[in-house]
Order: sequence, then C-alpha cells, then structure tokens
Amino acid sequence: MCLRCGRCCTSFGVCVTPSDIARIARETGEAPETFVMAIPEQPGRQRAEPAVLIDGERSLVVLRYREAQGARFCPFYSPGGCSIYGARPMLCRTYPFVLAGHGVAGMKGRVCPRDWKPSGKRQYVADLEQYHREVERYAKMAAGWNRGKGGGLDAFLRFALRAAGGPPEPPNEPPEPEEPEEPEEPEEPDEPDEPEESNPP
Ligand code: SF4
Ligand code: SF4
Repeated sequence: MCLRCGRCCTSFGVCVTPSDIARIARETGEAPETFVMAIPEQPGRQRAEPAVLIDGERSLVVLRYREAQGARFCPFYSPGGCSIYGARPMLCRTYPFVLAGHGVAGMKGRVCPRDWKPSGKRQYVADLEQYHREVERYAKMAAGWNRGKGGGLDAFLRFALRAAGGPPEPPNEPPEPEEPEEPEEPEEPDEPDEPEESNPP
C-alpha cells in the first residue's frame, strides 16, 4: 500500500487536465492561475498529456511547484498529506499505476519506492479509464487551441475551463480504510510498454 511518503508530491510538476483544474478551483476557491503554471515541453519525451502553445512555446500545464533543495514541492503538499485529497488530479489519483489489459500494472521509472499492489484495484481501473477519457478530451481541446496559435496562460485557462464545461463533479472516492490490508492478488498483468514516467521532470 501507499506509504504516504510524499515522494511523488515533491518530485515533479504534476500535469493537470482542464477537468482537474476546474475541480481544484471549485474545491479551493482559488483562481486557476494561482495554482497552475506552464513549463516547456521537453523534446523527445513521450507522454499522454498534450503540449499547448503558451506564448509561442510548446508547454505542459502543471500544478505550480516550488523548488527547494533539489525537490519540486506541489503547492498542495503538506507533511500531513495532500490538502486537496478529494479533488486531487487524476494523475495523482492513479499514481503509480497504468492500465494493463483489464487490470493495472506499476508504472515504469517511477519515483515511488514501494512495489505495492493497489488494494482497491477496481477503483484504480475506473480512475485510470476516466483519466484516459479526460486526456482524450484535453488532446482535442489542445489541438483547437494550438490551431489558433495559442496565447498566454490566462487566456489558455479561460479556454480550457470553457472546454471543461465548468467544474465537474469529483470522481467517486470510496471511503479509505485507516490501514488497508494487502489483498490476495489473483493475477498480475504484465508490465506494459509505457513511457518512463507520466510526470514531467
Ligand atoms: S495534488 Fe496532492 S497528491 Fe497530487 S502531488 Fe499535490 S499534494 Fe500530492
Ligand atoms: S504513491 Fe509511492 S511515492 Fe507516492 S506517497 Fe505513496 S508510496 Fe510515496
């Protein structure tokens, strides 16, 4: 199970979809530009989330992070855990797993130190499927934005939130047991060929 060690919350800029942004804005009451930033896309990097043209540069839209001592701190990370846990991005919700056939498998090249199996496998599959659908919608939206030659981050965020159709309902989250037990895993799918890491560096 997850150790709640926070390594995944202090290592990356977490990519967010328009649906994530709308959900977090509703949860926090904050304007998206206060918790979102754009970073240049790294050439040759394979990833699911689309790059969008921000001020003429192909960029990834991520949670605004703070860098200190070689780490990248998510704005919602605290030693007590995630402050927006119920509204956290789909990438966080599904980390460190990917879809593999009808099940899930561990992401390759992850920072997560545990070789753990999800206790709520069905929920992970549902969340990963939802994440894929959101990324597909995001890719179509991004193609339209890029065809129009893009613009600044504020304009992109307005465009993205309109495309998201306003703040969505949060994904169903089953109540978490205090200490989830490791279930008997009937079978574990093979590791799929996946990009090294679903987060930007
Ligand atoms: S949103 Fe929450 S779970 Fe995701 S990186 Fe930030 S603190 Fe961690
Ligand atoms: S998913 Fe992995 S890296 Fe993230 S808090 Fe849990 S154990 Fe740590």
